[in-house]
Amino acid sequence: MTPGLSAGAMNVLTEFGTEEMKKTYLPKMITGEWSGTMCLTEPNVGTFLGDLRTTAKKQDDGSYLITGTKMFITSGDHDLTKNIIHMVLARAEGSPKDIKGLSLFLVPKFRVNPDGSLGEPNDVVCSKIEEKMGIHASATCMLNYGDKGQCKGWILGNEGDGISLMFHMMNEARIGVGMQGVALGGVAYQLAKQYAKERIKACTCCR
Ligand SMILES: Cc1cc2nc3c(=O)[nH]c(=O)nc-3n(C[C@H](O)[C@H](O)[C@H](O)COP(=O)(O)OP(=O)(O)OC[C@H]3O[C@@H](n4cnc5c(N)ncnc54)[C@H](O)[C@@H]3O)c2cc1C
Repeated sequence: MTPGLSAGAMNVLTEFGTEEMKKTYLPKMITGEWSGTMCLTEPNVGTFLGDLRTTAKKQDDGSYLITGTKMFITSGDHDLTKNIIHMVLARAEGSPKDIKGLSLFLVPKFRVNPDGSLGEPNDVVCSKIEEKMGIHASATCMLNYGDKGQCKGWILGNEGDGISLMFHMMNEARIGVGMQGVALGGVAYQLAKQYAKERIKACTCCR
């Protein structure tokens, strides 16, 4: 799950990030030193993302202050990698209160210094460890952004592009999950077929 989502985040960054963003984040994501996530779901919002409550307030330096809570975030927090680059859907101040008002932000767990080294924590906190049925080993959690008003994010594309950019990641994740489903179904069929053949041999009344 972790490398899969990281690949999705890298693809969005490659296609829609600024040159500075790409230079800062991509090399370490490609080597696997840093991983990525996609953050859509909130305690109040699943399928119907238009109701999303996470907000983004533009700052003078072009960054945004992010505030909100996301849940069910796959690989949301862990120590497998030194930094985690979250791709977060949020509503920029003044944007429409529907799905067209969403934007996509790059929000690192740790800020990155100009020389590429890790800086201070970016006010992204794991507030609850969660479990997803069927994938118990997946590091899944609830994340609070900006409890202290210090969570910085950088926009990908323009304000209002959020859903179309997020679908670049989601489509890839869907294809990955679909492949896993087909693979599991295939293995289940092979095991069932083998078992059915052996069972006939073992059953005295069918001989
Ligand atoms: C394995 C797994 C990994 C996940 N990883 C992530 C992740 O990394 N990041 C992330 O942000 N989220 C993640 N999620 C959460 C996922 O995005 C949500 O579960 C999904 O968006 C559905 O939301 P929900 O669970 O709240 O269901 P709901 O939105 O409550 O939907 C429940 C049911 O109601 C139906 N429904 C909902 N609204 C309507 C409507 N208006 N009309 C008709 N039917 C409707 C749905 O089709 C569904 O059948 C993950 C979920 C799973 C299972």
